[in-house]
This record gives sequence, structure tokens and C-alpha cells, in this order.
Amino acid sequence: MNTSLDKIVEELKKAKSILIFPHVRIDGDALGSSVALCIAMRLQGKEAHILIEEDLPSNLAFLDEGYCINEYSSSDNIDVCLAVDCSDLARLENRKEIFLNGKVTVSIDHHLTNEYFADLNYVNSDSAATAEIVYYLLKAMGQTIDAKIAEALYAAIATDTGNFQYSNTTKETHLIVAELYDTGMDHNKVAVEIYQNIRPEKVKLVCAALSTMEIFSNGRANIAYVTQDMLKQCNATMDEADGVVEKLRDIRAIEIAVFLKEETDQVKVGMRAKSKADVSMIANQFGGGGHKKAAGCVIEGTIENAKQLIKDSVHNYLSNLKG
Ligand code: 5GP
Ligand code: MN
Repeated sequence: MNTSLDKIVEELKKAKSILIFPHVRIDGDALGSSVALCIAMRLQGKEAHILIEEDLPSNLAFLDEGYCINEYSSSDNIDVCLAVDCSDLARLENRKEIFLNGKVTVSIDHHLTNEYFADLNYVNSDSAATAEIVYYLLKAMGQTIDAKIAEALYAAIATDTGNFQYSNTTKETHLIVAELYDTGMDHNKVAVEIYQNIRPEKVKLVCAALSTMEIFSNGRANIAYVTQDMLKQCNATMDEADGVVEKLRDIRAIEIAVFLKEETDQVKVGMRAKSKADVSMIANQFGGGGHKKAAGCVIEGTIENAKQLIKDSVHNYLSNLKG
């Protein structure tokens, strides 16, 4: 059940130390929301850090101005451990134990599939991004939103809404962002950092990945993949394959797009729906989750194995989908 934002505000106000936990394979919303919270907590005189377990994607690294740490040995004395944009504990991967050791655990999230895993949970699946919830949380705390906080929130909302084009975007999203402009934030700087600063190696990788595309289920679905070998050949990193699944969905008549990332002994699956399909239902079949139009899961084994399993599942789903 949802706790009120006021109850979470009360806990945060009391706390002296706060450790923030964005989900693994961090994205713009998870990092932007965490950075906004971290800045705000420090402005409120608290000791605050963001605990991550991987390198930040290069186009998001500008957001981290000394907030992120990679290691934390003992959290016995941490007052509040705060999960951000995480639907379930598995999204904290190797940081689970540290999170659960917090004196109080809190989760704020916007995933429909959230499992209410913390002591205090605030989930709103109508929010386009977790950053919208962070915005209201900071307001409720009486925290002034300065330009730095605003840029982090803007980065989070812009990325999770596909620059305000996805169906999760609402009037409220625009009203929040409109207010962020009043802080004097530089939204163009954020856009240039995130979207117009691409390494040529990434472009090569995207080309290689797109060239693996296969269309199936009577032209209504497609699937493509990236392997570790392709990363080596292009001298690129896995996070540079982000964005491919949206390009797959852009194609005419495609209702479901699937993109596979080869990891060690497992495959990370990302899915997108265009209009009627709910890809979180397919991700759920494999122990994953997400939103109607953007979901994911992890499948053990090889790319070939994962590809066949997902293709069957997507085809089955589309065969039963009306309209
Ligand atoms: P992406 O394809 O960008 O990695 O993820 C799309 C959406 O699905 C995101 O909202 C993300 O939080 C969710 N998602 C992706 N992978 C997983 C997963 O393995 N488990 C769960 N529960 N959600 C996921
Ligand atoms: Mn999000």
C-alpha cells in the first residue's frame, strides 16, 4: 500500500544520513531523480550519496557532480535507504543487502509492476517519470528547486517521456517542466549533453545492431540484438546501444519492438509497444516488468535461445490481441 508523501517527508526530515539507490542499468530517470534528491538532501544539511554499481552511461555522466559512489561497506548507521525508480528488489542487484540494512527503507517509483518492497512505498504509475514524484516530494519538504536540481529533473523527465512524445506525457508533466524553467535552468545544455554528444563508435554500433533486425508476426513485431563481439568490433560500450529499441518501434506497422543485449551467460531484453499492446505482460512471463509501452526482463542463456523464447511469446501475445 502507498504511504503518503508526507510520511516520507517526515522520515527524510528526521534523517541525518541518506543513501540513494537508483536501479541497475541506470537510465536518465533513475539518475536524474537520484541527483535531484541528493542535491536537495545536502541542501537540507544531510549526508547524502547515490550508490551505484556500474559506470554511468557517458551521455548522463555530466549529471554527477560528486554525488555517486561505487562502494559502501557498512550501512548499519544509515538512517534512510531510498530506492528510486525501482519496481522490485532485483533492480538493486548487488546492492540489495546494503539497501535492506537501512534503519528505514523507502521506495519512490512509477512502475505499474512495483512490488512494494520497502518499509515506506510511494508508487504512482500515472507519473510519466519518477522525477515527477521527486518534484512533489521536494515541494512537500519545502525545498526550493534551484537550477541544478531542475536540470536533473528535466533530464529525467525528458528521457522517460521520449522528449514529451510518449503517451505517459500529461498536462501535469508540462506544468512541472514549465515551472522548472523559472529556476533559470539551461535545458538546451541538458539536451546537447544527452542527445548531441554521440561518439562515432556509438553510431557504428547502432548501425550494426539495426542490421540484425528481423521482422516477424505478420509485420507487427521486430527483433534485433547486440553481442559482446559487436561491442569489440565497434569499440563501443553496451549503454551505447540504448535507443535502438525505440528506432525499431519507429518502423511503420510495428506494434512490438524487441532488442536483446548479450551479457555474460544471460540476455537483457528490452521491449517497446506502439499503441495497443502491453509489453509489461510479456516481460512478466520472464520475471521482469516495467510499463505498458516499455518493459524488460533478463533471460538466462544465449542470444539464440532468448530470441526464440521472446519471439514465440510476442507472436502468441499479438495473435490474441484484438484490433
Ligand atoms: P529498458 O528497455 O529501457 O531497459 O527498460 C524499459 C522499462 O522496463 C523501464 O521502465 C525499466 O524500468 C523496465 N525494466 C527493464 N528491465 C527490467 C527488468 O529486468 N525487470 C523489471 N522489473 N523491469 C525492467
Ligand atoms: Mn522511470
